[in-house]
Amino acid sequence: MKNDETTCIDTEFSKQNAKEVFGTLEWASKNANFISGCEHDCKYCYSKEMAIRFKRKTAENWKNEEVRGESFKKKFKKIDGKYMFPSSHDIHPMHLNESLFFLEKILEAGNDVLIVTKPHFECIEAICREFAAFKDNIMFRFTIGSVNSDTLKFWEAGAPCYEERLSCLKFAFALGFETSLSCEPMLDNNVENLINETLPYITDSIWIGKANFLIKRLKTNKCNSKEEIRKAEELIEWQKDENIKLLYKRFKANPKIKWKESIKKVVDIRISTTIGSDR
Ligand code: SF4
Repeated sequence: MKNDETTCIDTEFSKQNAKEVFGTLEWASKNANFISGCEHDCKYCYSKEMAIRFKRKTAENWKNEEVRGESFKKKFKKIDGKYMFPSSHDIHPMHLNESLFFLEKILEAGNDVLIVTKPHFECIEAICREFAAFKDNIMFRFTIGSVNSDTLKFWEAGAPCYEERLSCLKFAFALGFETSLSCEPMLDNNVENLINETLPYITDSIWIGKANFLIKRLKTNKCNSKEEIRKAEELIEWQKDENIKLLYKRFKANPKIKWKESIKKVVDIRISTTIGSDR
């Protein structure tokens, strides 16, 4: 698949075996993006790492969002499978109008869209209001790696707190939209609380995944102070195989809990070979 854009979700594993699908391809057939940079400025961001590596952005200016004219003007056709929007930036109030315009083009072409975001209430309210008629074509996937807002603030400085993200989930659920969660990366060792608090508002699934290549990524993203490396090492320790196996054992019977490739390979689940199967 042509992949001319970096992705918020890790795709590096996909190089290992062409038959197995990873990263965003586990969830959707194609990605749609129109912004370079992201106000949320997550320390572990894969898109930021790629942008720095290919000299499109620096660690310092990654958080300055710039609309990419050509991408913004793109015309969409109906595709097999669904689009993931966005995958290399997020939906921030600063570019909400542009995001609504862009999303409308994807939907008007007859596509299903997986909206993946660390949600701002203002944005989710607007999307639900503007696209009520497309309810059957939209699934929300809200990214929440912890129930602790201090933890979220540490790793995702510009993104909303836990309470705001939970409000978005409840709001979309109450309006009858399809809802799901991405807990990738898990940001602490308290995933059980997150699952218990959010599950009543989930119509589809909660995806669990580890933080991949964390130390390498933090170094490229210039988030490698002593404190940041210490926190990263703590996270890596929490996500060691024996803890992942315990987590899997605890939730494997729940059909709404799904496991990203970083966990599948630890607990020996077959990795999907179907692009966009969302399984
Ligand atoms: S939300 Fe975070 S991980 Fe996603 S693109 Fe923005 S900075 Fe990167």
